[in-house]
Amino acid sequence: MSPIPMVRELAQITRLAPSPTGALHLGNARTFVINWVLARRHGWRVLFRIEDLDGPRVKPEAVGQVQDTLRWLGLDWDGQPTIQSDDFEGHASAVGRLARLGLAYPCELTRREIAEAASAPHDGAADPTPSTRPDPLAPSDFDRPDSNWRFVSPDRAVRFSDQFLGARETHPRADAGDFVIWTKRGTPAYQLAVVVDDARQGVTQVVRGDDLVASTGQQVLLYEALGLEPIPTYTHLPLVVGPDGRRLAKRHGDSRVEHYRQHGVPLERILGLLGSWSIPNQPRTAMDLAEFAGRFDLDTMPRGPARFTPEDDAWLLGRC
Ligand code: GLU
Repeated sequence: MSPIPMVRELAQITRLAPSPTGALHLGNARTFVINWVLARRHGWRVLFRIEDLDGPRVKPEAVGQVQDTLRWLGLDWDGQPTIQSDDFEGHASAVGRLARLGLAYPCELTRREIAEAASAPHDGAADPTPSTRPDPLAPSDFDRPDSNWRFVSPDRAVRFSDQFLGARETHPRADAGDFVIWTKRGTPAYQLAVVVDDARQGVTQVVRGDDLVASTGQQVLLYEALGLEPIPTYTHLPLVVGPDGRRLAKRHGDSRVEHYRQHGVPLERILGLLGSWSIPNQPRTAMDLAEFAGRFDLDTMPRGPARFTPEDDAWLLGRC
């Protein structure tokens, strides 16, 4: 008789990866709380990574604030936080590898210039490939880190299975053409940095807002081109929108968690509002993190975006 094979559950790892571009609003908070709840329920290790490469929008003072807000919400993580810009060598060497494979090339054109060229009347069918893509593609050295570098996006669909959205298909070349992986500021672009970091840190579970679904296709292409593993399992959650249906932003008033905290709004009210958006038939009632965790179920979470209304704001502030 053959021995019974040992089934070993591989350790699962997720990450909280805020960009310190401003204080967390209620929409970001909901995504982080759900990510954390799923992680603690399933025994995933939780890493904390500060994504400080988000171009000129990063605010150094926001680094500490974001951590403080997440701690106030009751979230914790395993080990010390890491800072994305610390792995500069890893990011640069990944671009070097792609260049040597003939899969990355320097290009100064902006997205707008490429789009304009593609839609020029004499141009026939729109082609998102910049005219600067080398033809034929040739291996090169990553010798101009002060230039934008683009990834040679193959003309094919990428399929992945999303834990919330189900089977998804994206077409990175149609969506984003030969997308930028290194910027002329001398820093890696988000798409590249997130893949290199997640792979290096062994991240297996990515939970984030569904505004990043299209990016997932680009990221899977980079995993494949770089031969990196594991490609994570993705869970994309609906965003929170304002009363006008547009994603939550300053135009909807001050929806930062810190704004409510400064007004003395108890944590349980914030979590109660997030719960009313995330748990079916859950009225706005104060709840603590354990109650949220006990009642939340990804399978029954409302599919559409949550709507932050003036009544929600008044309830948080105890005005109704
Ligand atoms: N840093 C990104 C953000 O705050 C998240 C990126 C990701 O989860 O891949 O939107």
